[in-house]
Amino acid sequence: MISLRHIYKSFDTPAGTLAAVNNVSIEIEKGDIYGIIGFSGAGKSTLLRTINLLERPDSGTVIVDGKQLAELSKGQLRQERQSIGMIFQHFHLLNNLTVFDNVAFPLKIAGMNKAERRKGVEECLSILDIADKIDAYPAKLSGGQKQRVAIARSIANHPKVLLCDEPTSSVDPQTTGDILKHLAHINRRLGITIVIVTHEMDVVRAICNKVAVMEHGVIVEDFEMNNSNYVPKSKIASYLFKSEN
Ligand code: ATP
Ligand code: MG
Repeated sequence: MISLRHIYKSFDTPAGTLAAVNNVSIEIEKGDIYGIIGFSGAGKSTLLRTINLLERPDSGTVIVDGKQLAELSKGQLRQERQSIGMIFQHFHLLNNLTVFDNVAFPLKIAGMNKAERRKGVEECLSILDIADKIDAYPAKLSGGQKQRVAIARSIANHPKVLLCDEPTSSVDPQTTGDILKHLAHINRRLGITIVIVTHEMDVVRAICNKVAVMEHGVIVEDFEMNNSNYVPKSKIASYLFKSEN
């Protein structure tokens, strides 16, 4: 579903050129819940953002659902991005709009009429168990409720892929469990492939079937979570396995 091949992305900093992502290749299959774990500054967000070309790699190839994104025209890329949803640590809801208008926003951009938008929004909110907040403004919602609205908005256009950047980092452990339950549910029920960037081991343990460990711009190892024969190389991987067994 997603192939990243030899991705390289650097930034110019006062201290010189920084390779935030340094020759990373990963394969993510349809239906995966794929974790990218690592410490702050490892390059996780930068790597995730190359998947929808929010960040354009200096070199390397991004292929999503058979299409090489860098080769698409502007219009084609806009179209393709509709099939790649994204959610964030701080939710990124539009605070001056109601829950309805937040979730309807991508549908409006996609050109749906009012009745279609109403139907789409109601469906997504009910999948996320938050239909009762349809007329609320984000300021009146808890963090977990805001994230559920953000997930509802991200699936409104029926994406094939959902990119999640630290989706549970601003909520408590119980709310984390609730958000992960909903992500696992949309993965299973809607067949959406999910990529989750996180620094929380528990998140990976709870829902990922595969994981890549990232350090200093490099994937130091990647493995399947249910492979009991796997011998971990990094500290992070050892920890993921130790607490599981
Ligand atoms: P965190 O867990 O803190 O979110 P991360 O693993 O997501 O970290 P990135 O945000 O991808 O890390 O950043 C990787 C490196 O690239 C960091 O050293 C960061 O300072 C640098 N970086 C990221 N974006 C930019 C930018 N736009 N300009 C300059 N440097 C950047
Ligand atoms: Mg980050």
